[in-house]
Amino acid sequence: MKCALVTGGSRGIGRAICAKLSAMGYYVLINYKNNTAEANTTLQQIGGNGELLQFDVADKAQINDVLGGWIAANSDKIIEVLVNNAGIREDSLMAWLKDEQWDNVIKTSLDSFFYVTRLVLEGMMMNRYGRIINVVSLSGLKGHAGQVNYSAAKAGVIGATKALAQEVGRSGITVNAVAPGFIKTDMTEGLDEKELKKQIPVNRFGTAEEVAHAVGFLASKEAGYITAEVLSINGGLYS
Ligand code: NAP
Repeated sequence: MKCALVTGGSRGIGRAICAKLSAMGYYVLINYKNNTAEANTTLQQIGGNGELLQFDVADKAQINDVLGGWIAANSDKIIEVLVNNAGIREDSLMAWLKDEQWDNVIKTSLDSFFYVTRLVLEGMMMNRYGRIINVVSLSGLKGHAGQVNYSAAKAGVIGATKALAQEVGRSGITVNAVAPGFIKTDMTEGLDEKELKKQIPVNRFGTAEEVAHAVGFLASKEAGYITAEVLSINGGLYS
């Protein structure tokens, strides 16, 4: 059985990615942190063709226990596609940024990339096939005031994407990133879309489905010659 693991699959962009990968024929492992009801809605939306895997991606012990446990117990199943999507933002100007705001954001995006991917990589290397897609952000490319922690975490993942791509290309594994701009999800709830869209050439926020479409493309077999790439999905916003 061919599987895809999507971290943060209970809501927003992750949910849309689960739907896309399910439509591509994958059995989807839907990771989430707290929201079991929302994760179940995702599972329902993909017709039950998957399962929930609850663990905190910021906690390496949980990753090893839950994801490591799943891998050990399911040696007949192959994780072909990994989407490192789970992320949070805890914004503050640097002068007021608290230790825990720095730690939470770095652990959730950057540390999780390392601990989750390292576990999944072994099976991909044995299978000599894999697609790893990291959901980063425009903030990781250009930096964003009030998001020193978030920009650092996402920029770190971009560097790791490019380095890992060079390590595993020979094993049939591609490693890419997608960098969304403003996408309508819980994360951007409360932002003033009417005002912000004036800066966006296509004059609107994007949808989770538009990000999922790009992830599906990078996850396809046919995208095998694209690696170490960062694909912006931002409606032309790059200032
Ligand atoms: P969202 O609507 O807030 O959903 C976040 C998802 O991540 C939820 O499924 C949540 O699970 C999960 N999650 C959060 N912390 C987790 C943890 N420690 N362990 C496991 N799961 C965790 O966010 P989104 O807008 O879809 O964002 C998805 C990704 O896109 C993030 O990496 C974000 O940085 C990136 N991004 C978003 C935008 C945007 O405009 N929305 C722009 C650029 C980049 P629970 O439901 O259990 O909380």
